[in-house]
Amino acid sequence: MAQNGLDMDIQFLPGVGPKRSALLKKELSVGTVGELLRLYPFRYIDRSSYVRIADARPDMAYIQLKAKVIRIDLHGNSSVADAPADGPVRFNTVKRISVWVSDGSGEMEMVFFKGIKWMYEKLKPGQEYIFFGKPTGFNGRVNIVHPEIDPQTGQDSNQGAVTSMTGVYPSTEKLKNGGVTTKVMNRLLEAALNKGLEYIEESLPEYVIRQYGLVPIHFALRNIHFPKDMQSLEKSRYRLKFEELFYLQLSLLKQKYIRSRAEQGIPMPKVGDAFNRCYEALPFPLTGAQKRVIKEIRDDMKSGHQMNRLLQGDVGSGKTMVAVLTALIAIGNGYQTCIMAPTEVLAQQHFRNIQKFLEPTGVRSALLTGSSKTAERREIHAGLEDGSIGVIVGTHALIEDNVIFRNLGLAIIDEQHRFGVEQRSKLWRKSTCGAPPHVLVMTATPIPRTLAMTLYGDLDVSVIDELPPGRKPVQTIHATEGKRPALYRFMKEQIAAGRQVFVVYPLINETEKLDYQSLEAGAEDIMQKFPFPQYKTAVVHGKQLNDVKKFNMDAFAAGRADILVATSVIEVGVDVPNASVMVIESAERFGLSQLHQLRGRVGRGSEKSFCVLMTGQKMSKESRRRIELMCATENGFELAEEDMKMRGPGDLEGTQQSGLPISLNIASLAKDGLILNAARSAAEAILSEDPILHDNRNLILRKELTKDKYQVRDYSKIS
Ligand code: ADP
Ligand code: MG
Repeated sequence: MAQNGLDMDIQFLPGVGPKRSALLKKELSVGTVGELLRLYPFRYIDRSSYVRIADARPDMAYIQLKAKVIRIDLHGNSSVADAPADGPVRFNTVKRISVWVSDGSGEMEMVFFKGIKWMYEKLKPGQEYIFFGKPTGFNGRVNIVHPEIDPQTGQDSNQGAVTSMTGVYPSTEKLKNGGVTTKVMNRLLEAALNKGLEYIEESLPEYVIRQYGLVPIHFALRNIHFPKDMQSLEKSRYRLKFEELFYLQLSLLKQKYIRSRAEQGIPMPKVGDAFNRCYEALPFPLTGAQKRVIKEIRDDMKSGHQMNRLLQGDVGSGKTMVAVLTALIAIGNGYQTCIMAPTEVLAQQHFRNIQKFLEPTGVRSALLTGSSKTAERREIHAGLEDGSIGVIVGTHALIEDNVIFRNLGLAIIDEQHRFGVEQRSKLWRKSTCGAPPHVLVMTATPIPRTLAMTLYGDLDVSVIDELPPGRKPVQTIHATEGKRPALYRFMKEQIAAGRQVFVVYPLINETEKLDYQSLEAGAEDIMQKFPFPQYKTAVVHGKQLNDVKKFNMDAFAAGRADILVATSVIEVGVDVPNASVMVIESAERFGLSQLHQLRGRVGRGSEKSFCVLMTGQKMSKESRRRIELMCATENGFELAEEDMKMRGPGDLEGTQQSGLPISLNIASLAKDGLILNAARSAAEAILSEDPILHDNRNLILRKELTKDKYQVRDYSKIS
């Protein structure tokens, strides 16, 4: 079947066979020589350098030792262990062998649970071998389980390698057990290069390679697997990362170009009276960032193309203001706006905030949620249908089938990641104007720029990167249980000074047998230490009925309660400028971005505010790092960048749903921001000259983008 070396099944490579090839296919999705060549090492080891046993530590990555076998111990039932070393060994009763080795600096145990007979017979006491593996700590000593072993022959068995640097490839437990070791992988890649490399065609146009100073694909593939020297490796890495990010951006941007040409939007050329009246009545001047973003939005709306814009801004950066002014542009052009929020609490809050800005404009607004009464609901439906309601704020209730708009021209979606795909597209279909409504998605989850570019590569991104003036920084403090009496004294001082306090718990019930304090136990403790009627405590959690929740929330918002004990439901909303203290219990259980969102609930008033992170004494390294970061910075983007570095982009909060459009083999969004920028500008430059890639010199690009992996979802259609 194979037309050329690239399509050849890897089972025909020396040392593979049907069993290992099935394993490689299953574990790494590598089935052909061509696919194998595009499986890159994730690190390299220097085969010429050895670690001294005395220096080996369990936290080291893969190490290489040169050591002599001293003795081999058999472990199984006692009769085996006691058997003389030269007697016949019944291997079926042996559970594990320990191979003790020494390099003069110390001794180390190599442990085998599998392949026992083979190892026992192969390894000769008194002989020197090279051992390669990941050290682990066991009973206060360092050992290596299932190391790879080379006889110390003095020859370089790896003929493909020009240097002593050897690639280490992604692996799994099953691959290791199936004998697919680093050494086997190296031999496979050597064979794959011999069979396949000549058939690999250059995957970037000549002029792109020249313009960006890249090395050719053959050079890159040879050196990524078997680096000639450090410099060649670096150049090869750069080229392959660039290529990967370039095609990712090209595919996203191309969709955007195509859509902006094809997709008609509702032209909204005017600013309108409503906008101007609101603007003139503002109690404060807009920040520079707010002005810039409004201009970007305005340009979109008058362009005649549909707006698809993501508005990012830290908690408290003034997104609501931008949303209101955007809505008023739509109104000024004769269209309705809907503002969708993920929760009822948040919808109410938006509605309250928006009303005060709408007042001077005379625009009629309404709130529609699941708990709107029937009569009220009927009235709102009528107002939307006849167009007398200009701005509707609400939750999912807005997308019910019986909600009909007269002319919906703009949809503003807050915290988009909490909306399902299905719901978004339903909203989309509510447009009755012939063209889809403009879409503005607002998020307070600070997504690092590199990630936003990739996740929303086909959306335009606006960032409010400036907080309104006069904001007091929030002092963040880390405390453990021993400090609780001091914390309570501090809370009492703040309450005596007229302020309010949030206390947030990660759990409602102790569902698992973990020693986290549950909200219920915590609330009880608070009510005991802060007795009624001197202190008033409101409790809010997800299991309460909506009415109860609203009643308690309102009590706190209106200042009738001093303390709000809550689960993280308050994360997405509540503006209580008088609250000056945010206590987060079991803070080690929260992710960075969640902690940051919670902290953003205080520091909104004129008083100095505090965030207290309560944790247990014992924390994982990552938890400790998160707490340290929170105490060190208030900048959401800095935190998001750090978060991404710590956890990898796939895990970043708020992005799990969307995931990456394609998986990256070699580039990292966290680490390769500069290459990403270069790749993105390259893609932009090419598309601005040749949006549909029909130039001959872009033939390679056109061909590459037809591959399956670039048939990505169109994010604009679902947001
Ligand atoms: P976000 O929605 O981004 O979290 P908000 O829009 O709720 O932020 O704004 C937070 C607070 O800052 C609100 O009380 C709002 O009235 C106020 N605010 C917004 N813009 C400005 C500004 N330019 N100057 C002063 N205060 C502002
Ligand atoms: Mg807001």
